[in-house]
Amino acid sequence: MQKGSIRVQTENIFPIIKKFLYSEHDIFLRELISNAVDATQKLKTLASIGEAKGELGDMSITVSLDPAAKTITISDKGVGMTAGEVDKYINQVAFSGAEEFLNKYKGQNENNIIGHFGLGFYSSFMVSNQVEIVTKSFKNEEAVRWECDGSPEYILEETTKEQRGTDIVLHINEESTEFLDAGRINTVLKKFCRFLPVPIFFEGNQVNNPVPAWTRKPSELTAQDYQDFYKELYPYNEPPLFWIHLNVDYPFNLTGILYFPKIKQSFEIQKDKIQLYSNQVFVTDEVKDIVPEFLMLLQGVIDSPDIPLNVSRSYLQGDPNVKKINNHITKKVADKLEEIFNSNRSEFEEKWENLGLFVKYGMMTDDKFLEKANRFHIMQDAVSGSFYTLEEYKTATESLQKNNEGKQVIIYATDTVQQDAFIKAAVDKGYRVVKLETIVDAAFINQMEMKWNDVHFIRVDADIADNLIDKQESSASVLTNEQEDQLKKLFEHQPAGLHMTVEMKGLSPEAPPVVATRPEFMRRMKDMAAVSGPM
Ligand code: ADP
Ligand code: MG
Repeated sequence: MQKGSIRVQTENIFPIIKKFLYSEHDIFLRELISNAVDATQKLKTLASIGEAKGELGDMSITVSLDPAAKTITISDKGVGMTAGEVDKYINQVAFSGAEEFLNKYKGQNENNIIGHFGLGFYSSFMVSNQVEIVTKSFKNEEAVRWECDGSPEYILEETTKEQRGTDIVLHINEESTEFLDAGRINTVLKKFCRFLPVPIFFEGNQVNNPVPAWTRKPSELTAQDYQDFYKELYPYNEPPLFWIHLNVDYPFNLTGILYFPKIKQSFEIQKDKIQLYSNQVFVTDEVKDIVPEFLMLLQGVIDSPDIPLNVSRSYLQGDPNVKKINNHITKKVADKLEEIFNSNRSEFEEKWENLGLFVKYGMMTDDKFLEKANRFHIMQDAVSGSFYTLEEYKTATESLQKNNEGKQVIIYATDTVQQDAFIKAAVDKGYRVVKLETIVDAAFINQMEMKWNDVHFIRVDADIADNLIDKQESSASVLTNEQEDQLKKLFEHQPAGLHMTVEMKGLSPEAPPVVATRPEFMRRMKDMAAVSGPM
């Protein structure tokens, strides 16, 4: 038996571990199971290159709970460790790493610390007052037992163990008895281990799907497979509109499946968020910075081993890969949308009601996306229901809808029912009116007027049809008798005294709609024309 003191100048690492990881104690299970997975994968690799001999047999990982003994045991059948390896990987490395780390970050914002520090095995001391490792290497050496109570003193001795592999036995401390509850363990396993690549059992049940859809080749997957995986992730949601399978290995490694969910025309509170994985280990569903803001409403999974397990917000912001991944996702989403638009426009148009929300939001917030989206962003004709891209709209309206600055005028309706009369009048003049009536459209129009600088938007009820296009010859400061007659005719079919809701141009968007009777409306139109001059 060897007794020793863990070689580290920093007196005791454990208070630090406890302090900094206080709010995330459940990650001990993630860390220990990831180690078990690593050990299992290592053995498989060694076997495949002939360095490990014999049958590997069952390679599953088991988590077991003994509430009476107050222990949790994580058992794997992986490479195991020799006494020398325990000494090297457990006694030295972790602590020298910790020491180096502490020197480097001394005096810095403590919140930064977790993000830089892979606690790994030692996170087990957050919940344990004693930890044992019982391990037998595949190299056919004597099994060893290591024990440590959280002080730098440890014990390392020979022991007997039948099976190759490692058992980590945690003696759960007083503050962490919540983890002696099977329900709690199940929840934690579901959170972190759902898609780990090695079968994991808890109380006789397998808790994970080791081959989730995103790890398979896109060419092997059917539409049904993608739909099924979506159901696995979000059992209560309606089927997604479509999905994008990410598969990159250069200049960084990134896989995943992003789903466009069916959402209503409003930004609902979104609880089913994109999940971030690192080699199938769940990291977080706070994917801000990694996923472009306008795609935060997407769902699904992103997996990148280039993203460290112990991520924190401040870490992500500073990570060069994160920016690259973000750009890549934007590009992939744009490419996929364009591909669907080009290959199956009718499907694209059918889904536009949902899709438009993402596309417009993306165009407003991300110039790289805007560039590409101009090719597939579409607007729906308020009368015929057909769709135009901006270029198609320009072509369809030729020179008819150019204002005196030579800008393309887009005439739009925000409410096709209420603005029906105006739409008809505009269409009679040969103009084309598009529907821009969703919740993002008001902001979208504002933004695009700047970004598409050759375009001017006019709301169909902003002026009578004659004046919609701001041409020198047709602009008038007051309504002519003829115009007034036209306007009267417009409303002839409406019963007298009917209240109309009219939002007049020039009012701020926050102002309540102006409700006016017909005669009152006529008067106001005149007044407006008089004060605001040519519109
Ligand atoms: P990391 O996993 O980042 O290397 P850890 O602190 O989690 O850091 O683990 C330290 C080392 O201990 C591992 O690299 C590995 O060599 C060894 N180790 C930990 N758990 C196991 C295990 N279950 N089987 C074999 N080796 C292990
Ligand atoms: Mg580890």
